[in-house]
Amino acid sequence: MTPDTCPLCGADIPSRAKACPECGSDEKTGWSDAARSDGLGLPAEGFDYDEFVSREFGGEPARPRGIHWLWWIVAILLLLAWLGFYF
Ligand SMILES: [Zn+2]
Repeated sequence: MTPDTCPLCGADIPSRAKACPECGSDEKTGWSDAARSDGLGLPAEGFDYDEFVSREFGGEPARPRGIHWLWWIVAILLLLAWLGFYF
């Protein structure tokens, strides 16, 4: 079960994709309980996760997620700066 949009970053996810093209999250690194239980019943559909990661991310699966949470920190800091400016 792949969501239509990424619950972490909100990017559109192609129906056949198994991971978010924007932030790299997937059913194994955690976007839903439904996806995890679905994975138990259907053994991966021939999907090779390691091969996918190396093809999509050049063998650095941690990098997209690192960028993802880093942008959250930047967004929070900007919000705090904005609040400090107006209040
Ligand atoms: Zn995402």
